[in-house]
This record gives sequence, C-alpha cells and structure tokens, in this order.
Amino acid sequence: MLNNHTSRRKFIANTGKAAIATGISLTALPSLANSFNGFAANPFVQQPLPYETKALEPVIDTLTMEIHYGKHAKAYATNLADACAAEKFDTVNGKLEDLLHNISKYSPKMRNNGGGHYNHELFWQCMGPAIGAKPEGKLADAINQSFGSFDAFKTQFTDAGKNRFGSGWAWLVINADKKLVIGSTPNQDNPLMDISELKGNPLLGLDVWEHAYYLKYQNKRPDYINNWWNVVNWRFVEKRFESI
Ligand code: MN
Repeated sequence: MLNNHTSRRKFIANTGKAAIATGISLTALPSLANSFNGFAANPFVQQPLPYETKALEPVIDTLTMEIHYGKHAKAYATNLADACAAEKFDTVNGKLEDLLHNISKYSPKMRNNGGGHYNHELFWQCMGPAIGAKPEGKLADAINQSFGSFDAFKTQFTDAGKNRFGSGWAWLVINADKKLVIGSTPNQDNPLMDISELKGNPLLGLDVWEHAYYLKYQNKRPDYINNWWNVVNWRFVEKRFESI
C-alpha cells in the first residue's frame, strides 16, 4: 500500500499519464436521478439488504450471502469511510459518483473501497427473489437493438464474466453516447471511474470474485453465472435505464 505523501503523488502522476497514454475520455456520462435510484439518502453508508439472506436460494446460498454482505461488503463501506476521512472527501455534501469519476486523484485504498462499496450496493439491488426472467419495455427494446436478442445479450454478458481473469465484475453500461455496452473491470474498479477502460453508467453488475460463489460453486464460475440469471431483478435495471 502507498502510505506516504511522496508515493501517493507518484501514484497520481502515473495514473494520470496512463489516462493520457490510453486516450481515455473524461467526458460526462449520462447521469441517473441519484446514485442508487431511490436507494439511500447517504450512499456512503451500507444499506440494509433489500431481502433476507436466504431469499436467493438455491442460486446463492445463505452462508455466502451472510459472509458477502455482512463481512466483505461491510468492510468496503468501513474502509471507504476511513479513506474519505483521511483524504478529506466530504461525504455529507459530496456525491459518491463524483468521487468515482475522479478516483485517479485519490489513494489505492479509496479506489478499492469506493469501488467495492458502490459495486456491492448496486449488486444487491440488481438481484431479487424470482423477480422475472426477462427485461421488458424500453430496456428490452434497447437490448434487442444493441445485441440482436436477449439470448445474444446473455451470452455476451456471461462471456464477459467468465473471461474476466481473476477477480472483477461484468457490466451492462450505458455510455456517453447513450449506447448499451457490455464489458468487465478488474478488482473493484467500475465503469464510473476515470481510470477504467470500460466507461459508462452501470445498469447491471455481476460480481465474479470467488467470494461471491466459491462456497457453493467452487471453481465453476460459469455455473454460478448461468444460475445467476434467475435472480436478476430486471424491474430495478429497467428503472435505472429509464431514469437516464
Ligand atoms: Mn463481492
């Protein structure tokens, strides 16, 4: 970890150069009405799980949910609060999305935990018990136009999750051109971050860290992803899409 002023400045300088070298655009993304679509007054604080830990059985087992939400995600929220205090980010007046847009100006701790917190808060909302198997309405139309069909979309998204080496996330995002794009990010990075190769506002995110599935699925990440489609809360994803 970088824990002194000089190395932090060096980190900032290096990430800045990387952004220039790869030609990353920092243009504004389409923004949502708020961070989590009616989710929380204070998006920096971990919110209650919107269902019971057993609610996603048998796709996601209760023990995995308890550890994932109660230990892993809780730690991201706690460490984000620590980083915001140490690096003087105002969590009362500041927006979590603005912090992520400018994440290259902060420490690796802020990047890992800011992303970790945002990603998980979104992830819990993206799931629900037997909500519905398919998107409907405007989102369904946009998916069909962008990817050919819902099945083709699922295949492409599944591949993004399967092929993300190591830990990371698969995403459906709406980018600055208001196009739907599928991709993935490493570790706890997300498409809101200025350092991310994949850029956009996330509509649907899938955690492919081993901690999300290992107790039940062990090394079989593809089985986890294939079953996960059964607990996607498409009503939530539709709301995000329609709030752009
Ligand atoms: Mn996770």
